[in-house]
Amino acid sequence: MFIKKTFPALALLMLCACGDTMPKKTNVLNRNPSSNNTAKKQPQTNSQPNQTVFKRPEQITRRQEEKPEPEVARPERPKEVYTPPKTATNSGQLTYRSAEYYRHITDSIQYYAKPSYEKTIDEIINQISRNPAQKKNPAVNSQWYASVNFNVRKPNFVVLHHTAQNSAEQTLFTFSISRTQTSAHYVVGRDGIVYQMLNDYVRAWHAGNSKWGNVTDMNSCSLGIEIDNNGSEPFSDAQITALIKLLDYLKDEYGIPQANFIAHSDVAPSRKSDPSKHFPWKRLADAGFGYWYDAYNLQTPPADFNALLALRVMGYDINNQAAAIRAFKLHYVQNDVSGSLTDYDKKILYSVYRKF
Ligand SMILES: [Zn+2]
Repeated sequence: MFIKKTFPALALLMLCACGDTMPKKTNVLNRNPSSNNTAKKQPQTNSQPNQTVFKRPEQITRRQEEKPEPEVARPERPKEVYTPPKTATNSGQLTYRSAEYYRHITDSIQYYAKPSYEKTIDEIINQISRNPAQKKNPAVNSQWYASVNFNVRKPNFVVLHHTAQNSAEQTLFTFSISRTQTSAHYVVGRDGIVYQMLNDYVRAWHAGNSKWGNVTDMNSCSLGIEIDNNGSEPFSDAQITALIKLLDYLKDEYGIPQANFIAHSDVAPSRKSDPSKHFPWKRLADAGFGYWYDAYNLQTPPADFNALLALRVMGYDINNQAAAIRAFKLHYVQNDVSGSLTDYDKKILYSVYRKF
């Protein structure tokens, strides 16, 4: 019984250890002991000379006794030494809440924010470096077998926002302090400057209570991008050009599908309305981010077309039907965001939902 259970692993070990010295095309169960190093070390005591007797490997015995894994001390990661920029100004000399004011205090706050960021990263590393035997799952009732085939999970969505603030500097400040409990991976300024605030692999706090399809934790699977805009102004060309360059990189780097570039208002239709109706979704769709309808080939949907089911197919949470319709219209109709669908809206919906 024991031989049967441990045979495959040991056979593999023997194959690796013996290399070219091992006889070719030998049935290892009936191998001649004289040609096998392992068998030489373990004299046969039974009456079957051709039967290899395996000794239980040391490490399996240890695993079966469930001895705790020794704590492995990881080498200290070199810390970034952050020095606030030398400047002659102080916040008192700046106009309260101007971009310059926010830049000044954000630069000062970074002195604390960067070590705090690294501390949290270290905590995350500690969390995921624990192997399954160290962090017991009560439902698991066997020893731990390690797989060697894995890597880190990747973001699969991009959720776009507008900041509803007056400057990128104000947003950088907002995300640098813990009191706000909100963040995004990127902030795109009106001037086309792109700021990265978090590593793409960590979970930012940008989507909040949200749902898209059956995903109820958008923060865990998405990248959040905040676009500097107060919500009632157009987006500048420099800003959208910079955004598209960023999206290009992210789409390629993480293999994010075209359908998965969506709005905060799409995933939180009852709570959010960003980015605003000014956002150029068609330009983004033309560049390969999100979908747009075929404006020159709008067809009347069939009589049995179910608009709510079409919204659901796209991903909208239709629990609040009027909110789902408003969110759809904010994204695709834009100049009318009422909670009901006109015949024209239904043509747009019919055109776009078939692309998802
Ligand atoms: Zn938002």
